[in-house]
Amino acid sequence: AQEILLNSRPNGAPTLDTFRSVRRSLPAPSDGQLLVRTLWMSVDPYMRGRMRDQPSYIAPFQVGEPLEGAAVGVVEESRAENFAKGDVVSHFSGWRDHAVIDATTATKIDLDAAPAEAWLGPLGVPGFTAFVGLERFGALKSGETVFISAAAGAVGSMAVQIAKAKGARVIASAGSDDKVAWVGELGADEVINYKTAKDLTAALRKAAPEGLDVYFDNVGGKHLDAALAVAKDSARIVVCGMIAGYNDELPSETMHHLSAIVIKRLSLRGFIVLDHYDLYPEFSAAMIGWLKEGKVKSRDTVHDGLDSAPKAFLGLFSGDNTGKMLVKLADR
Ligand code: NDP
Repeated sequence: AQEILLNSRPNGAPTLDTFRSVRRSLPAPSDGQLLVRTLWMSVDPYMRGRMRDQPSYIAPFQVGEPLEGAAVGVVEESRAENFAKGDVVSHFSGWRDHAVIDATTATKIDLDAAPAEAWLGPLGVPGFTAFVGLERFGALKSGETVFISAAAGAVGSMAVQIAKAKGARVIASAGSDDKVAWVGELGADEVINYKTAKDLTAALRKAAPEGLDVYFDNVGGKHLDAALAVAKDSARIVVCGMIAGYNDELPSETMHHLSAIVIKRLSLRGFIVLDHYDLYPEFSAAMIGWLKEGKVKSRDTVHDGLDSAPKAFLGLFSGDNTGKMLVKLADR
């Protein structure tokens, strides 16, 4: 099998040297295990955190060991009840073309409901994260105004559409004119290109003159600072991610509006989607329906072949993706 290992821990932005590709022969699956061949794998911003040798909600990657992450594959050999050769499953041993996995870590996916890659995007962690953030922590209501950053990304593009479905007014931000246009097509009422806006806070205030009820933060830094400035009293700030700082060893951005948390009695709430799988059945039923009816649209940026996975990952930090960043290994 071919596997991509963590070659060295990055200091600052990762590079291609952070990764190393190796070939090794896999053991045959033992009782309770499956041999799976990868069709699609996901690269995600949180993987940058796992490259750091420090305790977090999920264990760090080890130098010289294969990276891990969400993937979809086809079962080539099963030594587990309930799985048969040819089943298509989602699992967590991405970054390799074949893997021997415990069947308890695999979930059969329904290809009639949505194509394989959608189980890493709208029906996978990104779509579910958008749903949990808005539903459980944003408690977003019809008529409210929400601001969503990194809105052309995997989570953001789902959050925009779920927020519209809830009847909210949606302000969004993204890093290119093409992305701005696409997020507008998804239904956002105002979209800010944060790279060309001279003053993000002023642009946000103009888009939301009455202020924000909810901010869904994917970015942190200047975006969070602007949202604090423009938030209404008692606004809810849902902290999903802070990608602007993921490559910093120490926080580098100055916050100007932190005192707004007190003055406006804001609630800030961070969450990790893994803690909220009790909502998954409700979410997946809704999302399968929205996709079938065309109410939610998704887009992927696809890199071909396992060798392109490091480049795909690095692209998350330079905004190379519109929609979900994916690596495709095989059709079937
Ligand atoms: P995306 O598909 O949104 O990809 C990342 C995007 O972030 C890029 O395309 C880029 O878009 C934008 N970006 C990168 N660097 C910066 C920067 N310095 N300033 C502003 N924007 C930047 O990734 P995901 O949808 O997978 O993840 C989005 C966020 O959600 C991340 O913060 C991630 O960590 C978080 N997350 C949190 C989860 C949780 O359980 N809390 C679960 C899953 C994701 P652009 O061109 O617009 O700059």
